[in-house]
Amino acid sequence: IRRVVVVGASLAGVRATESLRAEGFDGDIVLVGAERHLPYDRPPLSKQYLTGDWSADRLPLRPRSHYDDLGVDLRLGTAAAGADLQAGRLDLADGGEVAFDGLVVATGATARTLPVEALAGVTVLRTLDDAADLRRSLLRRDGGRLVIIGGGFIGLEVAAAARSLGVHVTVVEAADRLLARVADRRAGETMQALHREHGVEFRLGVGVSGVRGSGRVESVHLTDGSTLVADAVVVGIGATPAVEWLAGSGLRLDDGVVCDSGCFAAPRVVAAGDVARWYDTRSGRLIRHEHWTNATEQARRAAANLLNGPDGALPYVPVPYVWSDQYGLRFQTAGELSDSAERRWEGNPASPRFVTRHLTDGRLTGVVGMGMNREFIARRRQLVAEHETIGA
Ligand code: FAD
Repeated sequence: IRRVVVVGASLAGVRATESLRAEGFDGDIVLVGAERHLPYDRPPLSKQYLTGDWSADRLPLRPRSHYDDLGVDLRLGTAAAGADLQAGRLDLADGGEVAFDGLVVATGATARTLPVEALAGVTVLRTLDDAADLRRSLLRRDGGRLVIIGGGFIGLEVAAAARSLGVHVTVVEAADRLLARVADRRAGETMQALHREHGVEFRLGVGVSGVRGSGRVESVHLTDGSTLVADAVVVGIGATPAVEWLAGSGLRLDDGVVCDSGCFAAPRVVAAGDVARWYDTRSGRLIRHEHWTNATEQARRAAANLLNGPDGALPYVPVPYVWSDQYGLRFQTAGELSDSAERRWEGNPASPRFVTRHLTDGRLTGVVGMGMNREFIARRRQLVAEHETIGA
């Protein structure tokens, strides 16, 4: 391989370029990204940046000089529109082309939206531009009313940030509990209690039937017939892998770019980060993760495998890890969590300071923690060690 093109200039894409160089690759690297900003970190967008504690200049993953030092041809504000894998050609939206003999797909995901008319004051939170808009409207509206649609990590982090700015917050969630996709019921309940203490109101188990206003949002209408007055609305209902540009490429696209256990989607094509749905040798299933640590670890593995080729590829078998910061407390999960696992608590499970071990057939399979950082880290280490012992 002499020339690698990495599509998607965010966490996974940047880590992939760094890993290619760390593995000794000295050919050309072109990093193509649709956004015009220097590649930046997303977690602070719903935390320190949103509260105004951080300015945008703290967000870049690396300074511009880093890409020059690595000899990476960084092309920002440049969207890929298609790829011809036989010819080794990436087509750009501006009509240009880039030749490659290795391709890294790292286009991440885009925020899901509601099928409602576009109104000022209604936003998703995925990009720096989204966060800048939301921050402007939150900082302007001390005492204003924010409705958050979706009780997942993003929605709850926005809730915590908005409360710290004195904004009135209501979270609407269609499921009957918070964090339904990422944590067990108990953790969701504890999180809800914490938010209630900080003045967040909840409407669980109810959907949204409409968002209305004239030009600017004024109200959110719920499926039980009730109405919430809103000066601003954040839609945090998940994300969809950004694969449209690969339609017709011959790659298998099914809730992401489908890859083998070594992150190969085709012989000279690997994928990493939120966009990649790979074969997990441990569970025997295709899985996709939308978390920071996964984007970093998978990009490293995918880049190394790309250089070694499919026959020399090592499988990517992570122990998933996720964190979220709310009200100065760190919520963390590692491994697999399920409501059916046997659970052992340390700390008080009803308080926002606890660590819970999930056991399946007596084996440690997951850890959930809030506060109690030291204990969580010890349990996570134990989980990783067990994982390595069983050679998964
Ligand atoms: P992305 O970061 O989505 O980047 C993909 C990039 O590809 C984008 O810049 C996009 O513009 C570009 N792109 C898309 N299509 C094209 C195209 N056709 N051509 C060129 N470029 C294209 N995770 C945690 O574990 N903890 C947290 O606390 C946490 N907080 C978060 C807070 C927010 C607000 C968000 C949005 C995410 C958060 N995450 C968190 C998740 C984490 O940020 C993501 O998992 C991570 O960003 C994934 O990196 P990625 O490079 O795969 O994809």
